[in-house]
This record gives sequence, structure tokens and C-alpha cells, in this order.
Amino acid sequence: MTAKSAAAAARATVYGYPRQGPNRELKKAVEGYWKGRVTAEALGRTAAELRAANWRQLADAGIHEVPTGDFSYYDHMLDASVMVGAVPERHRAAVEADALAGYFAMARGTQDVAPLEMTKWFDTNYHYLVPELGPDTSFTANSAKQVAELKEALALGLTARPVLVGPVSYLLLAKPAPGVAAGFEPLSLLERLLPVYAEVLADLRAAGAEWVQLDEPALVQDRGPQELAAAARAYRELGGLDDRPRLLVASYFDRLGDALPVLAKSPVDGLAIDFTEAAAANLDAVAAVGGLPGKRLVAGVVNGRNIWINDLPASLSTLGTLLGLADRVDVSASCSLLHVPLDAAAERDIDAEVLRWLAFARQKTSEIVTLARGLAQGTDAIAGELSANRADLASRSASALTHDPAVRARAAAVTEADTRRDRPYAERAAAQRDQLGLPLLPTTTIGSFPQTTALRTARAALRAGRIDTAAYEERIKTEIRDVLAFQEKAGIDVLVHGEPERNDMVQYFAEQLTGYLATQHGWVQSYGTRYVRPPILAGDISRPEPMTVRWTTYAQSLTSRPVKGMLTGPVTMLAWSFVRDDQPLGDTARQVALALRDEVNDLEAAGTSVIQVDEPALRETLPLRAADRDAYLGWATEAFRLSTGGVRAATQIHTHMCYAEFGDIVQAIDDIDADVISLEAARSHMQIAHELAGHGYPREAGPGVYDIHSPRVPSTEEATALLRKGLEAIPPERLWVNPDCGLKTRGWPETRASLENLVAAARAVRQEL
Ligand code: GLN
Ligand code: ZN
Repeated sequence: MTAKSAAAAARATVYGYPRQGPNRELKKAVEGYWKGRVTAEALGRTAAELRAANWRQLADAGIHEVPTGDFSYYDHMLDASVMVGAVPERHRAAVEADALAGYFAMARGTQDVAPLEMTKWFDTNYHYLVPELGPDTSFTANSAKQVAELKEALALGLTARPVLVGPVSYLLLAKPAPGVAAGFEPLSLLERLLPVYAEVLADLRAAGAEWVQLDEPALVQDRGPQELAAAARAYRELGGLDDRPRLLVASYFDRLGDALPVLAKSPVDGLAIDFTEAAAANLDAVAAVGGLPGKRLVAGVVNGRNIWINDLPASLSTLGTLLGLADRVDVSASCSLLHVPLDAAAERDIDAEVLRWLAFARQKTSEIVTLARGLAQGTDAIAGELSANRADLASRSASALTHDPAVRARAAAVTEADTRRDRPYAERAAAQRDQLGLPLLPTTTIGSFPQTTALRTARAALRAGRIDTAAYEERIKTEIRDVLAFQEKAGIDVLVHGEPERNDMVQYFAEQLTGYLATQHGWVQSYGTRYVRPPILAGDISRPEPMTVRWTTYAQSLTSRPVKGMLTGPVTMLAWSFVRDDQPLGDTARQVALALRDEVNDLEAAGTSVIQVDEPALRETLPLRAADRDAYLGWATEAFRLSTGGVRAATQIHTHMCYAEFGDIVQAIDDIDADVISLEAARSHMQIAHELAGHGYPREAGPGVYDIHSPRVPSTEEATALLRKGLEAIPPERLWVNPDCGLKTRGWPETRASLENLVAAARAVRQEL
């Protein structure tokens, strides 16, 4: 191979594209099917049209090889489970009766049958359905979807590459089925799974696939010798098949580390590697194994999960380095474009200058094509694109939006003391006891109350211009009064205003902070037919005026009990947004923390004695590789402390987190130095209380005793039993009584009943003390 021939052959490709269509047609069709308003045939037609439109768009833009099979009615991991026949026993009958209805039953459950569990796809905000496997799982090949979609693309005259979840990642992302004896490891099924993949590959080959992509993102996580041996074995076997398409093994989201030499040595025909998130590490690793002679290298140089334009000269330089390290170098995004919105050009409300800094899936596609052309034909061939790119990057870095001197000066002046409360926890706890005068086992809620029909109607009417702001705010006040009246009557000790003014806990603050942008059409799939529109954290962050003080003080004016102020923490503000990539995340977190600090201090000045700063995303933002975690937790916990460090000892800082696996961040939970933490725990039977105790956690904690993810009302006895369990780990002076999370997705009847039972349980257990 020579660098020159590798360059000349450079091609543009992507691994996946947003599925929903320009107007979320897929969401409408799927939900219509669920409601019986759209037939299976009509749904199938809509889906086929969307796929064809995507492929045409990609091909017209200059993508040489389009992906197939990345499309999904719900989730590509669920599609993989169907492809290998891993249908849980409880869904078997439904799937056999009607494959499509059964597919959705696995995704969503039915009246009688629970769905597959859903969890986050690596550190993205996409959720996949977790395969359930056991020692009795038997796999069977079902390549119909993959073959059909390939044929559709080929029929359009396109070069197409089916994309499958790879067998190793499939097993590593699976979990033991309910009831399977402890100690079972899904990876032990590899031997059984590989022949099924071999069959699917043969089917795809027969249908005309020259290349097939096998996605192995699980290999960018820390993997032990056994797991690496499994990867080696999988690709030795699949690579050694006689009748097979050429194999491209793709990884993304981080560095391949020890998995790189394993894949480099295996008899597959190409590797697709992320050169954005872990560019330097992956580059060094490819060089260290002596390159990939004889292989195709697909270089993910365009970030597939942020929304910023590419630095084309920097990417060309990476690509230049890679030439000579492989037989052929192709250009792609770092991962599927599923994680970004479709088209920045659809945004009408974003300032024209700022819009030029943004690249959604369509714009990223053009960047990939440009880079491939530049590589193959030389930079003169893309001179126009390069000069436009240079101008856009310069406009971004020189903009007042991204460089606010006041914000920068303030962030630079932060001292260690700013990130610490004045008094140590024990002294604060005593001051707070005096000031608040709460009973043992105080009761509270996490913040939001049911979003009523009247509230939703008012919000829609405001948006449509049918009512004015004053009328809308009257509705908010009514909701606050209702929520307060209920809590007082129910006997809750620390009240909340119910968050009726918030559509979303991040968006609400993003709309009020300078430096954030909102999109009109920037929808991204979160799971199934649920799409979110993350705000864009584009510039330096500041808070022009108080954001929540007005509603909190209104609520406090209605009661003599303490009303908790309610804010979203800095890490969560970043995690559920698209964040600027032109400075370290920690710097951005610090700016957000300073804006929140002002809000916390203003709340205190307005008489709020309890303030909660939610950080549900603290755990989920944890880096994929353990080696990167301390650095992250360092800036993340510092940002929290900076936001809350400016209040008096007697002001009680609460935080809330909802993810269930806290084991690896217990130290960080301690390090944020909040006075009280509420956590999701009802489903795990207070296990978290024991984890905290085992760690020696010295503060107050409220492990949830009411599972808010279901309409089920916990009985007083049930909540009482959970509290007794909590008391085994946490002493009564430090145990709070609260639900798992906010109540905004619940209805009023079950909320009322559940909270009444929760208060009754607290009272019953207080009697026993
Ligand atoms: N305060 C928020 C609420 O109650 C917290 C939500 C969350 O943890 N995701 O809705
Ligand atoms: Zn929560």
C-alpha cells in the first residue's frame, strides 16, 4: 500500500442516519399503529419511504456507501435480539402470533407482560432495550429485516453496507434473564451465537452485500483478558468463514485500547475507528501495531454526537497521518448520526452567524464528503469549502457569544474557598436543625407534581397565542396553590411548589441563561418514539436575572412550612444539552455553576432555607474508561460545590439523583458536600442506604420509598417496611422520607394516595423510635 493509492481510493460513508424523518413521520406512524389508526402495511410503507429518502439524500450528497439496517421501528438492539432469535419466553407467543405486535410488546410491554429493560447506550442519551439471556437461550438466525433493507437500497442503484450490532457487544450489553441463577455470563453464549451471525452474513452476501459492518462499541470500555479473548475468537471465526461478505468492525465513543491489537490481528477486512473523542490515543494505537496493512480503515473524524462544524484542516491532518497506515482510508462520522438532529438549515430562529457554526446530520454528511474529496483529490479540490470553514471557525472563536470577558474573568477568579461551605457539615447540620425544627424522619418530595391537563392546555394556548402571559401565569399560580394546599393537608414537612412553570428541567433554565440556544426542530431519539430537543450550550454562560425566585417566594408566601427552592445542577445542565467543544467541559461546568450560585444565593436572600440542586446525570456522565473518571468527578463535584458554596450554614442544601447504581460514585456523592441527598431506591429495596452506610456517608439521606415509575400506590405498610429497612443503615436523625423522583409523569389520584401513605408510614415509624 502507498499513501498515494490509499488517498486516491478515499470514499465517504456513514454508519447510520436519523430515523424519524424531517417531520417525525416515523413517530407519528408508529404511535398511530399502537393506537390502531395506522395499519401494519401503512406503517411499513412510511418506513420504506423514509429509508429511501434518507439513502437518496446521502447518495445525492456524495456518500459512496450508504448504511442499511440502521433503521429501526424502535431500537437497533431490539432488532439485533430479533435477528438472533433471542425473544424472551414471556414474549414468544405474542411474537409468533404477530411479529410486529410482538416486537412492540418486547419494547413496551403489555397489560400482562413486562417489556425488556431499557438502559442508556453508553454515555449517550439514547436508550436501548437490554437483551435478556440465560443458559437455556438458543439462538436462531432471522435475517429478514437486514436482507430486505439491503435489497431496497440496492434496488435504488446504491452501494450499500448493512450495519449490525456485533456479536461481542451484543453479549456484553445483555443481562441475565430474570430468574437465571447468579454467576451466568451472557458472554458464555458466544460459541452458540457465532453460527447465527455466520448465517446472517451468508444471507447478506447472497443478497448482494459486498461489505457488512459489525459494530463493537463495547470494546472501547475497559475489558479484561477473557472479554478480549472472546473478541479475538469471534473475529477469527467470522473472518475465517468461506462464504462471507467483507467485514468492517466498527467502534466508537472512546479509545480501543487493548482491543485494537486484537482486532488488528484478526482476519477481518477493515476497522472503523473513532478519531474524535479519543483521537490521539487511537492514532497512537494504530501506529503502535504497525498500521493496518491489507485492511480498510474507516476514519471517524467528524464528531457524530455533537452539533458543531468540523475543523476541516485538523481532520485532514489526521487523515493524512492515517494514510500509509492502512490499505485504504475512508472518511466517516465517529459514530452513527442517530445522535444528532437532522438538518440545521431547518432552524429559523437561530442567528445566521451562529447557524454557520452548527452541523446536524445533513451538514455532517457534507463535511464527510468534502473531506473524502480533499483526501482523494488534494486540498485544491475543496478550496472553497476550506475557506468557508476557516471563516466559520474564526467567527465562532471571535464571537462575543463564546467569549464574554466578564464571565471569563469571574471564572478565572474562582478560589478554592468559593467551592467550600464556610462551616463543616456537622456544624451546619446543627444550625439547620435549629432553624428548621423538623421532626425525625422528615417528609418531602423531589420537586415536580403532576402536570395537569389544565396546565398543558394553558401552555399550548400560550404557544398558539390564544392566551397571554398573564393568563398563563394565573394558571401557574393556581397549580402552585393546589400543590401547596395538598401538601399542607397531607402533613408533608418540607414543601415544594411543584414546578408547573417548567416543561423540562434543563430547557427551563437554558431558556433563561445567556449562552444557550434553543432549536425548533432539533429532535433526537431518546428511546422508541420519544424524541427530545436538547438545548445547545454554545457560548459563555451568565444569568441575566433570577430564574426561579419569583415562583419559589410566591409558594413560600402561602405557607409557614419551609418551601424548597429547586434548581438543576451544572453537570445535568451539560449532560442533557449539546455542549460547546471549544473548551474543556470542566470550564463550561464552572460557568454554569457560577450562574447557579447566583440563583442559590438569591433564593437564600429571598428567605428560602432549603434549596435542592438536582444532579440526576452525575452518574450517567461518568466516562466509559475508569482511568478518566477521577478527572471527571473532580470538576463535576467542584462545580456542584461552587454552585452551592455561597450560602449560610443554616441554609440546607439538598441534592437528588435517580440512577440506581451508585456504587462507583459514593465517594463523589460525599464530595459534593450537600446536606441532604434523595435517591431512587424503592425498586432496589433500600440497597443504596446500605451502600451509603458502608461508605461511612455522614449526611442526611432520603432513599425513595415510593416508586414513581408506575401508577401503583405503595401501601402504608409497604412504605413502613422500607423505612424500617432504611433505619438498619441510616440512624433516625439522618433519614428522610420521600419518593424516588419527581411526580410530573404521575396522575393526581395515585400521587395523592401515595403521598398520604408515605406520611402515614413516617408517622408510624416515628412512634417506634
Ligand atoms: N426536581 C425534578 C423533578 O422533580 C427532578 C427530576 C429528575 O430527577 N429527573 O421533576
Ligand atoms: Zn430523579
